[in-house]
Amino acid sequence: MSFFSTKKNKFLTKLQKQFNSNIIMNWSNVHKCILILILTLGVHFIWIGWKSFIFLNPTLWQWVNFSLLKSQIYFNICTASLVFVLIILCYFFQKKRWAETVLPHIVIAIFVNVMLFDGFLIGIYSPATIFAFVCISGLGLILFNRKTFYFQLTVALFVYFSLIYCTYNKLIPYAPLFSQNLLNHNPDRNFFWISSMFLFIMPIFITCFILCEVLLSQWRNQESFIKNLSQTDPLTNLYNRRFFNETLDTIQKNQSRYAIILMDIDHFKMINDQYGHHFGDEVLQRVASLLCSQTRHTDIVARYGGEEFIIALPDTSLAVAHEIAERCRLIIQNEILETVEHKNIRCTASFGVAISIYGIHINKVIHLADQALYHAKQLGRNQVQSFTDLH
Ligand code: GH3
Ligand code: MG
Ligand code: MG
Repeated sequence: MSFFSTKKNKFLTKLQKQFNSNIIMNWSNVHKCILILILTLGVHFIWIGWKSFIFLNPTLWQWVNFSLLKSQIYFNICTASLVFVLIILCYFFQKKRWAETVLPHIVIAIFVNVMLFDGFLIGIYSPATIFAFVCISGLGLILFNRKTFYFQLTVALFVYFSLIYCTYNKLIPYAPLFSQNLLNHNPDRNFFWISSMFLFIMPIFITCFILCEVLLSQWRNQESFIKNLSQTDPLTNLYNRRFFNETLDTIQKNQSRYAIILMDIDHFKMINDQYGHHFGDEVLQRVASLLCSQTRHTDIVARYGGEEFIIALPDTSLAVAHEIAERCRLIIQNEILETVEHKNIRCTASFGVAISIYGIHINKVIHLADQALYHAKQLGRNQVQSFTDLH
């Protein structure tokens, strides 16, 4: 098998693996829930770290509501433990049918409300809250089905606007975790406030960025795998007729010269009838790889029909194309094929060659090659005929 064909096979196998691999987008809902819960746990660890750091640095106490911060450390530890229990529960119930529909609602509701509560503590208009809201909404839309997502988004928006309403009407304080000293004196000029915002934003940004990158690369892989499937003949792994025609259209638009070799296996029906359809398939695969072995990787080898193959040879003269077809004919003729009954047989093929003439449509060139092939069949098969030979 030629370098080109081997490379193409490896490429297909690699793509297939990526297509089937279970990365995030193909995960079950429960596994996605576990991912969300792990992220929630991460958020709590950041909170605990940030609050403990302030707790241990008395110079920073002036910028926060210290008693609330202290109680919040315990609250975060309790919530983190609860989230940890939920992860175990998700793992435990992952095979249950109801878990697929119920758990996403519970987990997203917990995640979103924990984030909104944190947003309320640091200020609902703070850059970190708005940034988290936008990023997490985008991620939720990609990860979960629309129904679950829009339901949870509606709830989240309701809670968010309720917080805005209550803050506006002074029913609840704005950013209760920060001190009035900080809030009344331009927080955007306060290094502590800026670095805190930075600390809240960066993990969300990095996580969303990584997840989006993973999901997008999976989409790209799927797209190229499907594109490859649409261009490939599944039996021989050669290009199919559609891709061949499209490529030749491009060659023709670029006004390049090319030769066409059309090939048809001789008495293939007899091979099928005598040795079975399965053996016939194996012969087709063997012939395909022999054709690849005799062509350059700039040539396009395709399966054109049942036992018909076509080769386009860019920038090739009729004489050279004839020579290549002759080489293919000989290698096919000399190939020993072992049947299921361990009988060694050989098969032959006939070839028609034609060359593009400036201004002539591709279908016409293929038609000329087909006429040459017909002539080769009429002259007794197992031979190469070029279109000019007919005159
Ligand atoms: P000729 O020398 O005139 O070309 O004779 P032939 O028997 O090769 O030609 P014919 O067109 O009569 O038969 C082609 C056969 O190819 C018939 C069909 O069953 C077989 N065939 C087409 N596609 C496949 C395939 O994918 N697998 C197998 N095993 N056989 C196929
Ligand atoms: Mg045929
Ligand atoms: Mg045939």
